[in-house]
Amino acid sequence: MVSRTTDDYERMAMAGCVAICEPAFWAGFDRASAQGFYDYFRQITEYEPKRAAKFGIEHYCWLCINPKEAEDLKLAEEVIGLIPEFLQKPGVLGIGEIGLNKNSRNELAIFERHLQVAQDHGQLVLVHTPHLEDKLKGTRLIVDALKGFSGIDPGRVIIDHVEEHTIDAVLDAGFWAGITLYPESKCTPHRAIDMLEQRQAERIWMNSACDWGVSDPLAVPKTMRAMRQRGWDAAAVERVVWENPKAFMGQNPRFTVA
Ligand SMILES: [Zn+2]
Repeated sequence: MVSRTTDDYERMAMAGCVAICEPAFWAGFDRASAQGFYDYFRQITEYEPKRAAKFGIEHYCWLCINPKEAEDLKLAEEVIGLIPEFLQKPGVLGIGEIGLNKNSRNELAIFERHLQVAQDHGQLVLVHTPHLEDKLKGTRLIVDALKGFSGIDPGRVIIDHVEEHTIDAVLDAGFWAGITLYPESKCTPHRAIDMLEQRQAERIWMNSACDWGVSDPLAVPKTMRAMRQRGWDAAAVERVVWENPKAFMGQNPRFTVA
């Protein structure tokens, strides 16, 4: 959680969090060189696991150049070239969060380059979908692109930030779906629970964003409370917040949370 203070790790540990996975993402500004990404990959594979471990939290991560910075094709190619050497690090779960931000041609090209790396190295994939009016079109483009990679099993791909109008397309194509809880944009607890109920919580995980804007690292435990208030029993809550993420991430043997 490179964008957050250590206090957030403490609060998450107090709320019962035992493991997190951190996608490679935007730095709050566009990085100027591949060297900047090299240092970032070291930060999230070497330093952050130690910071999290101080609070008893296991730290995992995903690697990529995020779509927001993928418009510079030369830079993106250089960064993608750095990824294979980091895939061997202990906490690395796969490629992500890749995907589309503005649905541009360059973003799509770089998305497909990452998928090639995932296919070549047998990696799990975490996909970011665009916001607001771009989300439906972007999700369709993403699903279509994924279908072009026959070596990538849909059950090893999670498409994140789904909403009511995109979740069915994702799950019906065999992918996992991620619901991102957010205080201002993206999804509220009750909208998330509605979607979980409609799809019987199958192949879905919930996550919180811990980014540079307003976001809430405790969004998952707060939503657990809302689930109980809505009559969910303990086993059903545990399935969504514990069993489902373990099932998805456990497809990578490096994920060892028991
Ligand atoms: Zn995202």
